[in-house]
Amino acid sequence: MQVNEYHKPNSLDEAITLLRRTTPRTAILAGGTWLNGEAPRDIEAVVDIGGLGLNQIIRQSSPPLMRLGATATLQVLIESLRDVPGLDVLAITAHAMAARNIRNQATLGGAIVTADSSSPLVTALLACDAELVIQADEEHTVTLSGFLAYRQRMLVEGILITEIRVPIPSTNTRAVYQRVARTPRDYPIVCAVARCAMNNGIAGNVRVACGGVASTPIRLNAIEFALEKKLVAEHLDQAIHSAIGALTPQGDWLGSGEYRKETARVLVQRALAEAAGLPMRAGKHSV
Ligand SMILES: Cc1cc2nc3c(=O)[nH]c(=O)nc-3n(C[C@H](O)[C@H](O)[C@H](O)COP(=O)(O)OP(=O)(O)OC[C@H]3O[C@@H](n4cnc5c(N)ncnc54)[C@H](O)[C@@H]3O)c2cc1C
Repeated sequence: MQVNEYHKPNSLDEAITLLRRTTPRTAILAGGTWLNGEAPRDIEAVVDIGGLGLNQIIRQSSPPLMRLGATATLQVLIESLRDVPGLDVLAITAHAMAARNIRNQATLGGAIVTADSSSPLVTALLACDAELVIQADEEHTVTLSGFLAYRQRMLVEGILITEIRVPIPSTNTRAVYQRVARTPRDYPIVCAVARCAMNNGIAGNVRVACGGVASTPIRLNAIEFALEKKLVAEHLDQAIHSAIGALTPQGDWLGSGEYRKETARVLVQRALAEAAGLPMRAGKHSV
């Protein structure tokens, strides 16, 4: 890198002023695990956001919300969320992101900005209805899906993510992460997160997200609509069949488009069945 300016502001205003400059070309430095190796070679200045106090994890009671600071590390996320019903899936997927040395340094904001197609944590954040608080000219809140759709444009505009907000679901909500990878500890090729609250076999607040089937993780809204307030055991297969049929994943060296689609179907089925407390169908859906 050609970096010849390093700034570590203590206030948000100072950080925003530095980030708004058109020259020199400036990047946000969070944990630095991606930036140090992958940053474009023409970055000349970095603004280290580690002094802004954006690493807090706050449990808000009204409305029930977890407010996750953008510079909280993945390891802190694991330790803060593993005992929160319905949000423990964020701890499980943060653990699946990388080895501990990296998790101690990489931040939640950095993980969202650099999320690839099969990011386990971003897949789970989508299923948990995450919203981002961003600072551009003023403070805005955007849904994570909206951010992912316009990520390149928003980043060019120099936005700073300050906080990630995740509603705390009812205590009977269960969220399940499923994935397929080359080895038990490897990063996933395809992954799925399903979440619902069950009442006498009827699902409420159904959320389904899938990674590895598009350029970023995506929500599968069609399955959610098809199962909401329905007997899951009766409608599950049809809901999954239609929604997965509409996917058009690209193939790569890890798996063809057809493989990714079929794997997504199996993983979504497993995740939903487990979240809904249905018996697993041994053998029928092996991948
Ligand atoms: C050895 C090694 C192994 C790795 N293994 C994995 C792996 O298995 N899986 C994986 O997913 N990743 C892996 N990574 C990549 C890296 O750890 C992740 O991309 C990480 O989540 C980035 O977070 P960070 O805080 O370090 O971000 P940084 O490197 O500091 O920044 C990354 C990008 O995000 C921007 N950014 C950061 N925070 C904000 C914010 N709050 N607002 C706006 N923009 C922001 C930065 O400007 C930069 O463009 C690995 C990296 C290394 C060095």
